[in-house]
Amino acid sequence: MAQTDTDRNRRRLLKVAAAGVVALPLNGLLTRSAAGTGDLPRLSEDDRAARALSYVHDAVNASAGKRKDGALCKNCNLVLDNQGEWRGCSLFRGKAVNENGWCAGWVRRV
Ligand code: SF4
Repeated sequence: MAQTDTDRNRRRLLKVAAAGVVALPLNGLLTRSAAGTGDLPRLSEDDRAARALSYVHDAVNASAGKRKDGALCKNCNLVLDNQGEWRGCSLFRGKAVNENGWCAGWVRRV
């Protein structure tokens, strides 16, 4: 059976999507230590993007049932710094998140 253009386009789209899923956590891993994001302005919980991902400065205030036990910004694969109370985050570029915060984008640190 011959492949149609639609089949080829669908396969290409799936490959690009799969690459994106792999690249996002790797991006956090590769940029974490070199970011130097300690002086960034703090992300507000009222920020539109923060609200969309249910970000909270203190993970104990996360909506019930959404957060896995032990999930914090400081052990998220998307946090950009290894230390400091306020750290950069791959999802909220240009802003600092609290090390004890959390959002729905949390990914286990590898
Ligand atoms: Fe950023 Fe959310 Fe991870 Fe915190 S939990 S570091 S806000 S992606």
